[in-house]
Amino acid sequence: MDRLKKIAIIGLGLIGSSIAHATRRGKLAAEIAGHDASTDVVERARVLGFCDSLHDDVAGAVKNADLVILCTPVGAYKSIAREIAPQLKRGAILSDVGSVKSAVIRDVGPFVPKTVNFIPAHPVAGTEFSGPEAGFASLFDGRWTILTPVKGSDPGAVQRLKSFWQALGSQVDVMNAGHHDLVLAITSHLPHLIAYNIVGTAHDLEKVTEGEVIKYSASGFRDFTRIAASDPTMWRDVFLNNRDAVLEVLGRFNEDLSQLQRAVRNGDGKTLFDLFTRTRAVRRAIVDIGQDTPSFGRLPFQVYVPPKKDGAKKGKKNAAPKKSPPKTRAKPKRRAK
Ligand code: NAP
Repeated sequence: MDRLKKIAIIGLGLIGSSIAHATRRGKLAAEIAGHDASTDVVERARVLGFCDSLHDDVAGAVKNADLVILCTPVGAYKSIAREIAPQLKRGAILSDVGSVKSAVIRDVGPFVPKTVNFIPAHPVAGTEFSGPEAGFASLFDGRWTILTPVKGSDPGAVQRLKSFWQALGSQVDVMNAGHHDLVLAITSHLPHLIAYNIVGTAHDLEKVTEGEVIKYSASGFRDFTRIAASDPTMWRDVFLNNRDAVLEVLGRFNEDLSQLQRAVRNGDGKTLFDLFTRTRAVRRAIVDIGQDTPSFGRLPFQVYVPPKKDGAKKGKKNAAPKKSPPKTRAKPKRRAK
């Protein structure tokens, strides 16, 4: 793709900072401009140095940008779109990374000038961490990004945005927003809802102590806690903005769960065994196409090195492998929105 003169990233958390790192890695833009509503985040971004220019006002950040990407929680898009619309350069691409797409088109679309190409997008990549320290250049490598062009989107601009995401390391699919929302409702939104629910239920249990839940978490619970540690603001906005699709798949899920409940109650081992065999095949297929690797989307794993037989060195934990996501510090409490 042609090198951009200026890219503007609005929202400098996990996804925004990762786009900045990957843009710099690929030398994809002469200037990376950044803006965040939080002055604390802007200051931390300044120290981390992944932007060439940082702006307290969003209008200043988007001025003269060829590509503007909204990377805030989806609930903030409408007011940002209203504010930046008059500043957008003629022929610029306005895009985003939001985890829902129909609601983004509903909220942002009406403000976009006719001279600007509005092309929503969603990189299906992430971790449970938030904030500017959480970003890293390889986040999108080998993952998928879905573009959901709107009616009348210029095919040339769609191609340019596709090339940009490919240059960030991603594979790209194009689909309509409604279909995106349904696919993500089952592959991402419902799993998060289930994780939030099971961790909440375990936390509320009276007969099993919190200490026991934590101590025996390796038996399955631990993997749910990783997902349930995801950012509360972002996920609140996802469920508020993809209600229909989530309720549709939740209905199916509840019906299937009732069937499983009946099988357990009736001692129907065949139903249980058949389902578990099918689901194991799904897992194998995901691994086979390279969409799961030991460190993908997880904490840098630590490997226990046992003490040497001669007793010269004590056992210690290895540092994370070089290319793993960086450690992040706890995020300060969010402002009420
Ligand atoms: P994040 O780490 O919390 O970063 C979002 C940043 O946006 C925060 O610094 C936040 O500041 C800032 N912000 C909030 N309102 C703003 C506004 N009105 N103007 C400017 N900045 C504002 O979140 P993230 O994980 O990067 O997620 C960002 C977007 O990416 C969301 O739309 C999400 O759906 C999408 N996404 C996330 C993932 C994932 O795994 N995390 C994956 C794919 C797509 P405060 O913290 O002070 O509020």
